[in-house]
Amino acid sequence: MPCEPEFFPNLPGKTLLDANMLSQGIRLFGRSLLGSDVLRDRTLHVRHVLGGLESGPGPGIRFFFVLFTEGETPGDLDIFWRESPPGPVRVRTERTVLDRLRSLEGFRLPRNLRIVHTVLDPSRTLPVLSEDTPILSTKVLFLDRPGIGAIAGIGGDPGAARNPALLLVAESVATGLLNVLTLLRANARYEREIERQSIRDPLTGLFNQTVFLDLLAYEIGRGERHGNVPFSLLILDLDDFKKINESFGHTVGNAFLKAAASILEETVQSGDIVARYGGDEFALVLPGRGEELSSRVAERILERFCSFSLEAGDGFRCKTSVSIGIATWPFHGREPKDLFLVADRMMVRAKSLGKSTWCLPTRKDVAEEFRGASERFVLLQHALADGSVLPYFQPIVACADGGAVLGHEVLMRLSAGGRILPAGEFIGIAEETGLISRLDLVVMEKALGRAADQNYRGMLFVNFSPRALLSGDYVAGLRQVLLRTGIDPRQVVFEITERESLESTTLLEAFIVELKACGARFALDDFGSGFSSMAYLKRLSVDYLKVEGDFVRGVGQSGSIDRAIVTSIVALAREAGIATIAESVESPELFEEVHRMGISYAQGYAIGSPRPDFR
Ligand code: C2E
Ligand code: CA
Repeated sequence: MPCEPEFFPNLPGKTLLDANMLSQGIRLFGRSLLGSDVLRDRTLHVRHVLGGLESGPGPGIRFFFVLFTEGETPGDLDIFWRESPPGPVRVRTERTVLDRLRSLEGFRLPRNLRIVHTVLDPSRTLPVLSEDTPILSTKVLFLDRPGIGAIAGIGGDPGAARNPALLLVAESVATGLLNVLTLLRANARYEREIERQSIRDPLTGLFNQTVFLDLLAYEIGRGERHGNVPFSLLILDLDDFKKINESFGHTVGNAFLKAAASILEETVQSGDIVARYGGDEFALVLPGRGEELSSRVAERILERFCSFSLEAGDGFRCKTSVSIGIATWPFHGREPKDLFLVADRMMVRAKSLGKSTWCLPTRKDVAEEFRGASERFVLLQHALADGSVLPYFQPIVACADGGAVLGHEVLMRLSAGGRILPAGEFIGIAEETGLISRLDLVVMEKALGRAADQNYRGMLFVNFSPRALLSGDYVAGLRQVLLRTGIDPRQVVFEITERESLESTTLLEAFIVELKACGARFALDDFGSGFSSMAYLKRLSVDYLKVEGDFVRGVGQSGSIDRAIVTSIVALAREAGIATIAESVESPELFEEVHRMGISYAQGYAIGSPRPDFR
């Protein structure tokens, strides 16, 4: 559509714009609109716009340059070429652009500015020009927030500078590109900031609570993968911080929080994690450090706070102490929330003890306050370390011969929080966590040692988890226990439980052969309760079958299935030449009944409950 000059009365020199030029301008403007791909790659955008200069006035425009500054720091100088410039053109253009930048008021050209040339269509080469490629238009834009500045310009053919219409197009293209590229840059900058803020506390720059919890979970995963290497969690709370805010105002309060963050960062080592957990609460993860080492870190933090004070204006200085709670993984909790709970309670206790101190949980805390599986695991860890695992003894008597004592079963007990925990409360978790083999050895050593010391002559039935054989140390440990205690191995009966059946019985068979050679005997525990009872009986050469208490308790009812099962077990054992022991004999009547049914021995509350001695 042809354009009449009177429609553009304010154009410099009333230049006549031809229709081609105008439609070209509109097309270029349209190309400035952003697609999502362009938002991701600014080069794409320049390529897109300069690509649109192919026809119409385009051939006059050769390059586009842009220089971004962030704060005080300028970035690279980017020069985008439509066609590949020959060396001399490149050099001369760099000089022209730098001269133009130097001429800008208030702009100081950095000394080591890097210039990056990008050719949009490398298959085409720009002809060598006799004159310099002049700059047709330069634009400067500065955004106070987020503190981004940009200078952009358009360069063209030597003749282009003399074409007012082309200059006009160059102006608008430079403005459009500058706006769009600055927008992209600002966008990227905001994205970075948002990302930073999503993991950092804006005031102190420390990790925020959300990230901290993720990092803690990560640390737990790492600990598990590396054989339960302990680490500690510290929760710190500034003592009476409220008073600083109230007396000196929030500005000083904030400055104090920042200073506290710096103290913590300076006190810990690289690799430690420091976070602001809430108002005046901080949290630290100290990888690889157990109770002892982490309490030393806590001590150092207390000292640093003691000697620190902050200028609060008018000659006043403010200071506070800090209270610290410590929890060590995995001893005081295995899950992040458990560990937090413990550390937080310890922090509260540190406050109640008069502040400016640190607290670690005692065994009693753990036993009383945290009774979940993870806490039982902690108990067991402690039990191994401090000897609070004990043997109890329950008598096993003959059903005939006036109830002569055959021996005692050794049952594990845990002394915790002033209470004696029965095995049923912790054996499962001990097996799951693999602690059982060590616990078994400890109990066995104590029980056999006591029997040897007291010259005990009866049989000692010890519970044994076949799974312990998977731990290479178990058999060696057992040999040592037998040697050290000096017990006669012929007095020892290993009770094999089926609670978790072994995938292969090969290890177990070898173990039985070895210990039988020393004179030890074997029993199948809880016989009848597991599906593989019969398979075990067939494969393993045992001396006793202990009949599961659940069946024994039901034998009083004639015609009951329990009675039928026990009858068949007795027949089976007799045929195989194996002695039977009835478990859970809870009344004299039951004792009489199992005797009548042909069971050899009996054990249960009616005969004697588990006790810490052999009576
Ligand atoms: P178990 O081998 O079947 O042990 C018998 C369990 O029944 C014991 O529980 C005992 O206190 C309880 N009991 C004794 N008499 C009666 C009775 O008349 N009625 C009833 N209802 N129960 C009675 P405890 O000590 O809690 O042990 C539970 C299980 O933990 C044991 O079952 C055994 O499999 C395991 N265990 C105990 N001590 C050890 C140990 O030192 N090592 C290993 N690996 N396992 C052990
Ligand atoms: Ca048993």
